[in-house]
Amino acid sequence: KIVLLRLGHRPERDKRITTHVGLTARLLGAEGMLLASNDPGIVETLEDVVRRWGGDFYIKNNVNYKQEIKEWKAAGGKVCHLSMYGVNLPDVTDELKNCDRLMIVVGAEKVPPEIYQLADWNVAVGSQPHSEVAAVAITMDRIADDEPLEREFPNAELTIVPAERGKQVIENFRG
Ligand code: SAM
Repeated sequence: KIVLLRLGHRPERDKRITTHVGLTARLLGAEGMLLASNDPGIVETLEDVVRRWGGDFYIKNNVNYKQEIKEWKAAGGKVCHLSMYGVNLPDVTDELKNCDRLMIVVGAEKVPPEIYQLADWNVAVGSQPHSEVAAVAITMDRIADDEPLEREFPNAELTIVPAERGKQVIENFRG
């Protein structure tokens, strides 16, 4: 069970990237995303994707991140903060894989320094600056137990049939 915590989202400039963080986490099997800012538009966009493309990914708007981390840990969950300053992902992949309940935390600009203390792991996806979308994608792909690209999303209105050329989409509209 994986949950994503998005810190530092600025509604005026991070809409696209936060949406992409959510879509990527959903694709790779996260059960939901907690947004530590108030942006109902992001919730609407992602919920619309879930309605059309299936699965039960959820988005929780405007969370108190300290409270969420506290509750997650109290329930036995572990926290992995992705940061280029952390230990390198290949060195902790096995530990992360062994975790039943993992909260993956990503920032936008600067994260509050205490995150480094609250996290069980501060993990670098390579010690170079890049993107929270790439960091989530690489981490979730590497720690997956099965092939994350073969998962199905039930109750979809739209399902793509992989095709060598062109676009094949099945529409399953429900009453
Ligand atoms: N300048 C910011 C700082 O010093 O923390 C980082 C900005 S970066 C665009 C936004 C987020 O992407 C970071 O908070 C982190 O979660 C993620 N990120 C970027 N590069 C990363 C890396 N090499 N490893 C892990 N996460 C990374």
